[in-house]
Amino acid sequence: MQVYKFGGTSVGTPERMKEVSKLITADGTPKIIVLSAMSGTTNNLVEIADYLRKENSESAAITINHLRNKYRGHIPELYSTKEMQNSTRKLLDNIFLDLHHLCEHRFNEEVEKEILSMGEIMSTNMVTNYLKECGVKTFLLPALDFMKIDKNGEPDMLYIRENITKLLKKNPGYDIYITQGFICRNKDGKVDNLQRGGSDYTATIIGASVQAEEVQIWTDIDGMHNNDPRFVEGTTPVRQLNFEESAELAYFGAKILHPTCIQPARHAGIPVRLKNTMDPAAPGTIINNDMEEGTIKAVAAKDNITAIKIVSSRMLLASGFLSKVFSIFDKFKTSIDMITTSEVGVSVTIDKTSRLAAIVERLKKIGTVQVDTDMCIICVVGDLRSENTGFETIATDALRDVPLRMISYGGSNHNISFLVSMKDKKAALQALQDTLFNEKK
Ligand code: ADP
Ligand code: ASP
Ligand code: MG
Repeated sequence: MQVYKFGGTSVGTPERMKEVSKLITADGTPKIIVLSAMSGTTNNLVEIADYLRKENSESAAITINHLRNKYRGHIPELYSTKEMQNSTRKLLDNIFLDLHHLCEHRFNEEVEKEILSMGEIMSTNMVTNYLKECGVKTFLLPALDFMKIDKNGEPDMLYIRENITKLLKKNPGYDIYITQGFICRNKDGKVDNLQRGGSDYTATIIGASVQAEEVQIWTDIDGMHNNDPRFVEGTTPVRQLNFEESAELAYFGAKILHPTCIQPARHAGIPVRLKNTMDPAAPGTIINNDMEEGTIKAVAAKDNITAIKIVSSRMLLASGFLSKVFSIFDKFKTSIDMITTSEVGVSVTIDKTSRLAAIVERLKKIGTVQVDTDMCIICVVGDLRSENTGFETIATDALRDVPLRMISYGGSNHNISFLVSMKDKKAALQALQDTLFNEKK
């Protein structure tokens, strides 16, 4: 079985939905298809939830009606028979009614998660109905019947494997199985999600659960580029990445992949291929166990980072100081990305700041604390094993005009990270691009 995932732009219009349908049925082999919401929809749903949080139900209702009209407009473009037009219109109208009903509830996180789940429910129903109209044997696998996260927000792999296998066995013989990306249930059985961009994660979790031959992630660009094309000129596609390299790039901000979506594929040893829906013949990027030796592959950047420096004269010779520092972050369930130490202090970075005040309060008991916000981690990824001497010098030299707050090297064989202010991000990325890849030294 192959698992294909199509992102928001790939299913962003009725025309694109038709293209995707053509693409997935072309070779006649059965597939599980994971779909995102149509592009822009999840943002609209976030906006609706935001209005409700601000107790502005009138604007929430107006936004829902706007969205409903947009979806109603898609129906005659997507379906040719009156029968399918009517049944899909009814289905979508019911979803919009549900959205209006949710607005009447007292707003809380549960309501918000329900609202956010609607985009994928709509797109999967629309494409399923289109395929059915085309005569393709299609089955809609409800993600909420098998996709689950545990108390730590991690996918419950045993549960997922057992339940998707059961569902597939109970419904054999279909050519295409469609399911929703992003959405899941949590430990209490309530609707939840795998965080923004989570459809990639859905695809690799399913791939690992059904032991797929390959997971293909179809998006709007020809594979992983060697730098962020939204900020840097002259980026080019990288044709092959090792699992670890791609995991680092995803985690450190390459938006093409959800931050943790490589992990299930890496554990199960299932290759992931990144493909371009707008240009299906383009080769894309293959992610597997191979390692291209002695090569720098790509650069990524993770925004909204907070750096915390704890300085203590007591750190000198004091065993247990670092353990005290880490236990404070652990207590507030805040994970650390970068760490650098010196004889008198330690600097760490975090991206989740919801418990920052409490953390700083505790840290102040053991040292002098300095907090820097609006920072950015720039991560250079490739085969950086120690025998390939010199890459760290080249990268650091490329950033000679950028003030560096932290440098981290040696934590893995694949990554050197720099912490810079977010205002310097674009210049830093371009300087690395010009030096590492474009030979404009
Ligand atoms: P989808 O909706 O298909 O999930 P995303 O918008 O999440 O698509 O991801 C694709 C986008 O990621 C590209 O259009 C590109 O702007 C952005 N991107 C950021 N960094 C990279 C990179 N290194 N290589 C390719 N695309 C990247
Ligand atoms: N629709 C969700 C989002 O926009 C999930 C995804 O597209 O991967 O974040
Ligand atoms: Mg995405």
